[in-house]
Amino acid sequence: MKHQNECKQCGTCCEKGGPALHTQDLPLIEKGLLSFDNLITIRKGELAHDPVSSSVASVKNELIKIRGIKDSWTCIFYDKTRKGCTIYDHRPHACKTLKCWDTDDILGLAGKNLLSRLDIVKEGNPLRKRLIEHEALFPCPDLKTISRTITRSSKKTIKKLERISNKDLAYRIRAIEEFKLSVSQELFIFGRPLFQLLAPLGFTTRETSSGIKLGFSHKH
Ligand code: SF4
Ligand code: SF4
Repeated sequence: MKHQNECKQCGTCCEKGGPALHTQDLPLIEKGLLSFDNLITIRKGELAHDPVSSSVASVKNELIKIRGIKDSWTCIFYDKTRKGCTIYDHRPHACKTLKCWDTDDILGLAGKNLLSRLDIVKEGNPLRKRLIEHEALFPCPDLKTISRTITRSSKKTIKKLERISNKDLAYRIRAIEEFKLSVSQELFIFGRPLFQLLAPLGFTTRETSSGIKLGFSHKH
């Protein structure tokens, strides 16, 4: 078999997920080529695939990624029909660096010079104060420990997480109304709501008139 030494434009990397943004990408945001609507925040403490260790690990430093299409991680700028990037000329630094056949460069980039929300939402933007407050009030809990210790009978923990989930949602709803945020803007400004982070751990959510009810079904 011929050894691969160039991009075959198969799109697999774009379908696996949009890139994390680095300081080199800040001009794309400043020039308006990428908007808040295009981004999603993976907050410190969230569980994500770590390319260096090839395992699921808690994120040590916040990441800003290009968001996915609907509920998938496939990059929103990936055109499946044409198998191409719709922002090719101004694609992020990680996309330019990625060579799936030789991963040294991309692994060298992992975790370095990452952009965070505070690099993007500048001083003077009222959302900056709000996201700092939200992060202080609702930091991502220790999902690894929860995942290790939770069982159906952990009623106290489930109730506590349910209370925080509802407060987190109430905070978001207030900000959405005040700043007229779209869902994607909300996911960039505040990251994903707690109940969504708990779902892959086996938590279930039911909407009721008094807020969401959290349950636990099984470990995935
Ligand atoms: S870098 Fe690799 S995975 Fe990505 S499009 Fe090119 S050949 Fe496919
Ligand atoms: S920005 Fe373009 S190259 Fe980068 S992951 Fe998205 S579609 Fe692929």
